[in-house]
Amino acid sequence: MTIDEGNIKYVSHWTPGPATHIAAARELDTWRKPLYEAGLIGQYKDLGIGYGNMSVRRGSHALFLISGTQTGHLPATDERHYSLVTDCDIRNNIVRGSGPIQASSEAMTHAAIYALGDAIGAVVHVHSAKLWQRNLDKLPTTDPNVAYGTPDMAGELDRLYRMEGFKDAGVAVLAGHDEGLISFGTTLEETAQRVLCIHEIY
Ligand SMILES: [Zn+2]
Repeated sequence: MTIDEGNIKYVSHWTPGPATHIAAARELDTWRKPLYEAGLIGQYKDLGIGYGNMSVRRGSHALFLISGTQTGHLPATDERHYSLVTDCDIRNNIVRGSGPIQASSEAMTHAAIYALGDAIGAVVHVHSAKLWQRNLDKLPTTDPNVAYGTPDMAGELDRLYRMEGFKDAGVAVLAGHDEGLISFGTTLEETAQRVLCIHEIY
């Protein structure tokens, strides 16, 4: 298994600043709790690398609040652990944002999902060896040759959304990102529940 979690693959223009969107950060933490307790967000202890991240859209098309980088190990989070992404240039691989912590290394992929439709209000990315193996090619599944967190992934998610049932399922397996799954929904609750429901089946 290769874990490429935590490596920021885009050019980051991050402006350190105070926490904003505090109510949204608290809602993220509320839905993060069951995901953390299920081990879907957490840390590879032997590697010291956190995994899993979540975001919620804030108003206009490109604006979203997302987990800060390397926060997966924390049992609880607050507004200090979230970063506002203000602009994503997917084609040129540039992410701009501000806040008390740098955005997750996977902010680019979250941006690519928000770009699929204005009704998408939240995105959750989790890791689970069990869910990944059991749902590979059963749920909509990305091309294993497309690496997560890259501009190519945006095109691949768009293909899944339009042609492979990702639009209706709201959850996909990331074949090129070991143990990774991603979900979206109109609300944070719907998005988190889509992953938790699959988790409860197994
Ligand atoms: Zn991941």
